[in-house]
Amino acid sequence: KLHNTIQELKGNIRVFCRVRPLLTGKQSDILHIQLPAHDNKALTLAKMEESHTGRTADTQKSYNFSFDRVFGPRAAQREVFEEISLLVQSALDGYNVCCFAYGQTGSGKTFTMEGSDLEELWGVIPRAVQQIFKPFLCWKISGNEITVTNLTYQKVNNEDEVHNLIMLANQNRSTARTGMNDHSSRSHSVFQLDIEGQNSDRGTKCKSTLCLVDLAGSERVQKSQSQGDRFKEMTAINSSLTNLGIVIAALANKDSFVPYRNSKLTYLLQNCLGGNSKTLMFVNISPEEESFSESLNSLRFASKVN
Ligand code: ADP
Ligand code: MG
Repeated sequence: KLHNTIQELKGNIRVFCRVRPLLTGKQSDILHIQLPAHDNKALTLAKMEESHTGRTADTQKSYNFSFDRVFGPRAAQREVFEEISLLVQSALDGYNVCCFAYGQTGSGKTFTMEGSDLEELWGVIPRAVQQIFKPFLCWKISGNEITVTNLTYQKVNNEDEVHNLIMLANQNRSTARTGMNDHSSRSHSVFQLDIEGQNSDRGTKCKSTLCLVDLAGSERVQKSQSQGDRFKEMTAINSSLTNLGIVIAALANKDSFVPYRNSKLTYLLQNCLGGNSKTLMFVNISPEEESFSESLNSLRFASKVN
């Protein structure tokens, strides 16, 4: 019950930052991402810049951020999930829960949410599914009031059935070539599990929704040099991410009106955002020098939410 108390004190929106390892392994001279060993909530981007006054001296500009938790490049999937497992337990206790990963293409969103086949590298979704199904033979999965075109609800009885559905969903997920990344995902991937069960301690029935979301890349449109349909798609993605930010900010602000209907994404997630639901946002960061401005954008977006 401790985690519930902490949540109540802190409000229901938390932000975790995760910096993935350098894919080349080569550390840049220009950009350093500093994660102090004594403080797992802080992150600094330190960038060398040519001084405006003299050409010889370089100056270092630092950007400091603080989140509920910062995971560095060596953080294991299991370590990251330890924090999320409390939220999965909350979903089993009857709270609606939403956890989503935000960041530019290539920053590690899919790695965080799905991971890869090797059990050690499993991400949040397979670990959550395992946690939910492990102690029980069968959960009754309810229908739902929210209807979205082309969206169907499927009843699942065990871990395998969920994995099969995830594989099917991944096949359906549209990916397209963009200037930025050949395999960039041009879509949001929403994993939603409605849980209905009986709390064995209290004997009460509970019903909740767990949403785990791998968002489309947050990089700005111009950068990808997209044209035609791709450009329209990018614009729609950027607008849905902006609207998600607006909704989260309104919730963090405790505004009386929350504009869920401004995008399909927030409309679909409305049960898991706000009210007494618990929300966790991952901001995923690419440590490479060329990603600096997108990283700064993502960190600023996440700070507004926090
Ligand atoms: P995104 O979904 O944000 O576009 P990916 O999850 O596909 O990004 O990550 C891009 C690449 O970086 C992939 O090859 C992935 O395996 C790797 N990667 C991401 N995060 C990590 C991590 N924490 N540890 C090791 N490799 C990672
Ligand atoms: Mg991805």
